Amino acid sequence: MRIGHGFDVHAFTDGDGIVLGGVRIPHTHGIKAHSDGDVLLHAVCDALLGAAALGDIGKYFPDSDPAWRGVDSRKLLAQVVKLLHDRQLRPAQIDVTVIAQTPKLSPHVELMRSNLAHDLEVPREFVNVKATTTEGLGYIGRGEGIAVHAVALIEPRTGNG
Ligand code: MG
Repeated sequence: MRIGHGFDVHAFTDGDGIVLGGVRIPHTHGIKAHSDGDVLLHAVCDALLGAAALGDIGKYFPDSDPAWRGVDSRKLLAQVVKLLHDRQLRPAQIDVTVIAQTPKLSPHVELMRSNLAHDLEVPREFVNVKATTTEGLGYIGRGEGIAVHAVALIEPRTGNG
């Protein structure tokens, strides 16, 4: 087993919703980003890349490349999973903590889990998504953006797995 950690922050901007864990969530704001701004999936990508000692998401999908403008971050995650597969590695377990004052995320957590389990090709029982606030403190508490921490375990691929 190998372990990796990912962290990402995106600021809110004008808009009517955000995409988090591949789930479109109506909100009073959007997310400022080059891609679709799925800060959760970005943190998961970085955790997986970290576990495989493959650098970080910016190395593979730089902001400066127009190819990634508005891209569905699930496509980025799929590419990260493929990078692992190419090295005979695969995701084994993931734990995610979303830190946001708003919007309320609990109604969406199970769908995020399903998306992650599907994209990582791991059972739901090995995927966890949880959300917390900062009790109004700091930039998250002021509603300026969303932060996500992710921890991933990866393991060698065996047989046809
Ligand atoms: Mg990001």
